[in-house]
Amino acid sequence: MSNIIYLRPHHVLCLRFYRGEGYSSTFNEGMAAIARSLSCGEAIVRITSGVDDICKNCPRACDGVCLDEEKSARYDKLTARIADLKQNDTFTWADLQARLNKTVFTGDQFSSICRDCTWAYICHSIQKP
Ligand code: SF4
Ligand code: SF4
Repeated sequence: MSNIIYLRPHHVLCLRFYRGEGYSSTFNEGMAAIARSLSCGEAIVRITSGVDDICKNCPRACDGVCLDEEKSARYDKLTARIADLKQNDTFTWADLQARLNKTVFTGDQFSSICRDCTWAYICHSIQKP
């Protein structure tokens, strides 16, 4: 049975573009481990809300809440709406990428979600599959 990685909606995008840049070494180690287990099929994704398995390693999470929750929740809402992701939906990484390719990565949808993020200079310059 596969392990389950809990992700808030916009983190499915962050993981797709993760290139080793992050908030701290602990955060980066967590991201790399999650990315590895998903890409090799050891784990599957379950959509959740609020802080998730990525946030657990983030210095911007305080007492179970993101210090940038307003912005993070906005990204979640947009990602969930555009990609039709619902709480507890479960995907293999490959199926999730296929879903994103047909939704977020058509037209200018990705740009409308998180163009104002700190890391946009990375993700939005390599957005095409
Ligand atoms: S720009 Fe920010 S929110 Fe958007 S995918 Fe990259 S890290 Fe995630
Ligand atoms: S910035 Fe907020 S949403 Fe992003 S990983 Fe850190 S705690 Fe989670």
